[in-house]
Amino acid sequence: MFDAHRSHLRDLEAAGRLRALRPRSGIDFASNDYLGLAGSAALSEAVAAALERGVPVGSGGSRLLRGNHPEHESLEAEAAALFGSSAALYFSSGYAANSTMLATLPQTGDLVVHDALIHASAHEGLRLGRAESRAFPHNDIAALEAAVADWRSRGGRGRVWIAVESLYSMDGDRAPLTALAAVADRLEAMLLIDEAHAVGVLGPGGLGLAAGLDGRENVIVLRTCGKALGCEGALVCGDRTVIDFLVNRGRGFIFSTAPSPLMASAVRAGLRLMADDGLRTRLGDLVARAGTAFERRLGRPATGSQILPLVLGDDHAAMRAAAALQAAGFDVRGIRPPTVPVGTARLRISVTLNVVAAEIDALIDALEPLLEI
Ligand code: PMP
Repeated sequence: MFDAHRSHLRDLEAAGRLRALRPRSGIDFASNDYLGLAGSAALSEAVAAALERGVPVGSGGSRLLRGNHPEHESLEAEAAALFGSSAALYFSSGYAANSTMLATLPQTGDLVVHDALIHASAHEGLRLGRAESRAFPHNDIAALEAAVADWRSRGGRGRVWIAVESLYSMDGDRAPLTALAAVADRLEAMLLIDEAHAVGVLGPGGLGLAAGLDGRENVIVLRTCGKALGCEGALVCGDRTVIDFLVNRGRGFIFSTAPSPLMASAVRAGLRLMADDGLRTRLGDLVARAGTAFERRLGRPATGSQILPLVLGDDHAAMRAAAALQAAGFDVRGIRPPTVPVGTARLRISVTLNVVAAEIDALIDALEPLLEI
């Protein structure tokens, strides 16, 4: 019955790309729990308090039917006020939010130009959507503009949508957001910014790198809640019309059970906890320490962010290095294509408040001999 599937799995194994679920173990250099909130007492207490005041675990239905709960609406109102957008909509995951947005908002005759490194969830939306799409080389604004000019010269008449991440998930580098916003204005384009890895970590008060761009009619920001916020789900922040359109036309929103109201309470707490600059100061110290060691001891560039990729190139080499680190007690994962481009398999080291400085030093000690092989 499953011969074709088994053969596919064997091919993956031979290529060093077979994936398997593993229990979590070792010192955390793999999670996106950047502020260490996911297992924190503060978040647990907020959830306990929400349970105490009667917030239900399950929503019981989709938002447009019985599933809508005051916790969802409070979260959306608070998020819009905090980030400065005219409205916000809570989805059960960043994947659902991103794919729904890109599948729903660009219309027939429009063009989506996207950074070559945007997340799989955006690609999923593009696949489902009605608009044409073109990739531009990573962070290359001139290439973006050339792609749009070429499309216009071939008769493209619709609206242009620009899709980027603000802090790239597998590379840890930033998008030139100010320049992108200026290009979007000039082209009368919409700018979609995925802040998954920046919210809570960067920007004033942890508001992210897009802080200050919210409230513009041509900017939509995706803020996932499963990374620095320590919870689950994602907030799309944008113009009221955009949000109303998603509520009416976004299939990933309409035909899906509403997220747990309890999780919405947790995210509300996460947004309050994220405001503590002390967390970012502590994280910044660890990031600086790891970055300096990357440059001085490993001879690798620091990204200046909490995401530090160590590109090894070969898929097997990345997995061997990850296995050696895991055996030494470090939870470091190898990242292979298709998550990253072919030939750029890597270790993705993420620095979070789940580790202390001595653990970073120990990881660098363990990495040094591995890179010499
Ligand atoms: N965008 C980016 C840049 C991501 O890294 C991720 C998660 N890896 C997502 C979207 C999807 O978010 P979620 O995990 O909440 O589905």
